[in-house]
Amino acid sequence: MTASEIRQQFLDFFASKGHQIVPSAPIVIKNDPTLMFTNAGMNQFKDYFLGNRVPPHKRVADTQKCLRVSGKQNDLEEVGIDTYHHTMFEMLGNWSFGDYFKKEAIAMSWELLTEVYKLSKDRLYVTVFEGDSKENIPKDDEAYNFWKEHIAEDRILLGNKKDNFWEMGDTGPCGPCSEIHVDCRPDSERKLVDGKTLVNADHPQVIEIWNNVFMQFNRQKDGSLVTLPAKHVDTGMGLERLVRVLQGKTSNYDTDLFTNTIHFTETLVGKKYTFSDDKKDVAFRVIADHVRAISFTIADGQLPASNGAGYVIRRILRRAVRYYFSFLDVRKPLLHEIVPVLAAQFSNVFPELEAQVDFVKKVIFEEENNFLRTLESGIRRIEDFMQHATSKVIDGATAFELNDTYGFPLDLTNLIAAENGFTVDEKGFEVAMQQQKDRSRAATELDTGDWVVLDETPNSIFVGYEQLESTTKLLKYRTV
Ligand code: ATP
Ligand code: MG
Ligand code: MG
Ligand code: MG
Repeated sequence: MTASEIRQQFLDFFASKGHQIVPSAPIVIKNDPTLMFTNAGMNQFKDYFLGNRVPPHKRVADTQKCLRVSGKQNDLEEVGIDTYHHTMFEMLGNWSFGDYFKKEAIAMSWELLTEVYKLSKDRLYVTVFEGDSKENIPKDDEAYNFWKEHIAEDRILLGNKKDNFWEMGDTGPCGPCSEIHVDCRPDSERKLVDGKTLVNADHPQVIEIWNNVFMQFNRQKDGSLVTLPAKHVDTGMGLERLVRVLQGKTSNYDTDLFTNTIHFTETLVGKKYTFSDDKKDVAFRVIADHVRAISFTIADGQLPASNGAGYVIRRILRRAVRYYFSFLDVRKPLLHEIVPVLAAQFSNVFPELEAQVDFVKKVIFEEENNFLRTLESGIRRIEDFMQHATSKVIDGATAFELNDTYGFPLDLTNLIAAENGFTVDEKGFEVAMQQQKDRSRAATELDTGDWVVLDETPNSIFVGYEQLESTTKLLKYRTV
């Protein structure tokens, strides 16, 4: 089954259960002071949960473009190192706004996974909220008992507040959640321990695929929980992880969502991706992931910039450039070449990239080009330093300057130092880095994830870039 078919089956399944299929909201959020980017399927529905707006449908499903690179949800540093956290990913979701609740949500997710996708039941297990005595929240017996109708009890694991109680902010709708995990280890490794299947192994091949959140409480300002009059369901399943499981792969990057990009990159750089943990292969994964994130985010209206959301995008782009510069020996812009491949691949589900492909390509080219020039100047700076150095140590301040001004991560400075018989004063670097972090903390604390009432005036929706004679582009908005 292709990823497209898998996505479509999800939507068809929930349509057959009375859900309205709605489009993905843009990744870029312009009207919510607490969030720069969509990081979960439910973001666009916040007002329905809060009761500020009446949902046009009580049952909704979609695939949502999400980005987890800032605020409370930041997976950036994992990306490429592990094989299942992305910066941008598609979150498949189904919602009930005051309609069905735990019984139906659990039954539908089980039916979809085991009867439509035909996942083997003995690879699945689920987690349920164990309760919290301090807060006086009971164990989620309802969810536990509904799961018992589908799955053996030794596959229902209890989880604590951190993993199994969902709260977006200090106040607002919240409730227990129930996750579904898949054990993808080969049969021979799924040994019995004390006569029981080892289910919750902390293992890279045992991965969470789906989270079902049951919103049944409203957290008050004084911290107390009040039962909500209308109960809601909010679920999210990562498409890339689902596809990996259904295609029998051990990495999201081996699915047809990414292989196109990786093959194309292989031809561009003249090297092979060999599925390993080598830095070279991490670089292939980082490129495949990051080029998607920046392309779709630019297409949704956020240009790279030196502050705010634009700076987040610039940082993702630069992380990709550093990886190809350091580990694939690439010295000229590369990412922009991949944009048309992505645009074609996603044209049936997210046509916004294809519609703006030339512009997105150009923006990425210019960013890459500028940053590569900075990196080259950094190399001249480090060479100059080494030529004039009196000891074989690159001091902390210089390592930090290379990082701050020339975008050199410590890794890269270490690499060049070692090649020239130098070492780096890493402690001194950390001190300088910490000072910088203290100075700029305010800028990255924007995503607080609180339930702030969204702007009640008509929202502006980004509809594309205005083509101008000069290279400057205007952002075009439509009022809804
Ligand atoms: P994890 O524990 O793996 O970081 P999570 O608990 O943070 O996942 P949720 O917030 O529950 O994830 O999101 C719902 C689903 O979205 C997850 O079950 C997973 O399938 C998917 N997902 C979450 N984060 C990512 C990511 N960075 N890349 C790809 N898929 C993700
Ligand atoms: Mg996470
Ligand atoms: Mg989790
Ligand atoms: Mg989760």
